[in-house]
Amino acid sequence: MSSRTEPSFRESVDLMFNRAVKLMDLPPGLEEKIRVCNATYTVRFGVRLRGAMHTFTGYRSVHSEHMEPVKGGIRYATGVNQDEVEALAALMTYKCALVEAPFGGSKGGLCIDPREYEEHELELITRRFAYELAKRDLINPSQNVPAPDMGTGEREMAWIADQYARMNTTDINAKACVTGKPLNAGGISGRVEATGRGVQYALREFFRYEEDKAAAGLSGKLDGKRVIVQGLGNVGYHAAKFLSEEDGSLITGIIERDGGLHSADGLDVEAVRNWIVKHGGVSGYPDAQYVEDGAVLLEEECDILIPAALEGVINLSNAERVKAPLIIEAANGPVTAGADEILRKKGCVIIPDMYANAGGVTVSYFEWVKNLSHIRFGRMQRRQEEARHQLVIDELQRLDDVMGNTWSMSPDFKDKYLKGAGELELVRSGLDDTMRAAYQSMREVWHSRDDVTDLRTAAYLVSIDKVAKSYHAKGL
Ligand code: NAD
Repeated sequence: MSSRTEPSFRESVDLMFNRAVKLMDLPPGLEEKIRVCNATYTVRFGVRLRGAMHTFTGYRSVHSEHMEPVKGGIRYATGVNQDEVEALAALMTYKCALVEAPFGGSKGGLCIDPREYEEHELELITRRFAYELAKRDLINPSQNVPAPDMGTGEREMAWIADQYARMNTTDINAKACVTGKPLNAGGISGRVEATGRGVQYALREFFRYEEDKAAAGLSGKLDGKRVIVQGLGNVGYHAAKFLSEEDGSLITGIIERDGGLHSADGLDVEAVRNWIVKHGGVSGYPDAQYVEDGAVLLEEECDILIPAALEGVINLSNAERVKAPLIIEAANGPVTAGADEILRKKGCVIIPDMYANAGGVTVSYFEWVKNLSHIRFGRMQRRQEEARHQLVIDELQRLDDVMGNTWSMSPDFKDKYLKGAGELELVRSGLDDTMRAAYQSMREVWHSRDDVTDLRTAAYLVSIDKVAKSYHAKGL
């Protein structure tokens, strides 16, 4: 155990920001303006439940309004506090800038354990929280657009959208007040999987560069790589599922609230997920070794560690023992500033949160655009694209006939080529492009500057530069 004290999450983000900003040449005072959180609103409201009045505390923090609306999830967890939402809001500013989603940064939270409430109770609480935020324009399609985060999902987003619509009956863009909604309530295909999908695309991009893999002491492909995931919720589940099913990675460890599972041969992600849904945790799962103190698996041998649960899990107390050569921060802030330093010195490569989990906000951006344009992506082009492809197929067929049927198309080429892109294909294509472009912008800084030795600093440099340019364009 180190004698150093661990900074708070907010201080950790500031320390990382400061490290990067020292390498920049910003106009006097701008550094401070970018770092500080513009405003944090605390709300305490009562809801009558089970025959008594219950008081809840919630927050919505706006970090930067250099672009509007501001964007960021709403988290339901007992540990939610001002320091945490401010840290998360700051990360949203940098994340949006990095992936070029045209938003400022925001974040919200409610101090509640959602597992303690019935669905109808959660609906009452969510609607009341949404009412308190919406009446102050802290939910608004052109000013502040929340999304899901830990403890919330499509269901809560649908309640928020409906609450806003009830309060703004003539707002034709009301659906764009929140993203992550179910498809039948104005959502977009591929949003639920987006953050985990983005983690997969980020790893695929990392693995395209020999130099980057070598920095982590890795080589080859994702196929066969041993992966340990913490948190099999929305982000962790999708990342683990796609990596194992589509890239051949072995999920050798899964860490949940009640313990961890380990199997050198790889775990069946779908089976573990089903077990958790049925039994409320991983304990008792038959086909793996169970450890009660799941956090020890963060220190287990593996090729890739994916913390996808909560912040501060890799800290001064365990960083020295973490063996993974590559960590991808699917959660926000899983590695503290102190742990980051220890891991860097050990040669561990960290793909930072502001990039690694940006798939969620990227697809949220697509959803917001869809809501404002009031039309599903691909609706106008799909059949026209198919008709043009049919022309090519017909022409190939005609040439084959002329040449006496001497060649033939491979069996599934026709079906694959003919199929026009629907919304899901377009969303995945836009997400893939975004994750690749953002990674390339980071690695260029990482490899081209002698004073930048890690991807996190590179990510901050790219994003702070973009935020600074926005301020400059506004004449500030
Ligand atoms: P979630 O609530 O769907 O899942 C979180 C999972 O972590 C749950 O399965 C929970 O049981 C588990 N967990 C909680 N505490 C744990 C502990 N101490 N040890 C091990 N497991 C624990 O949440 P999510 O939406 O998947 O979010 C996870 C992280 O990803 C958060 O940091 C969030 O801010 C970040 N994130 C989420 C999104 C998104 O689109 N949902 C986008 C960007 C970033």
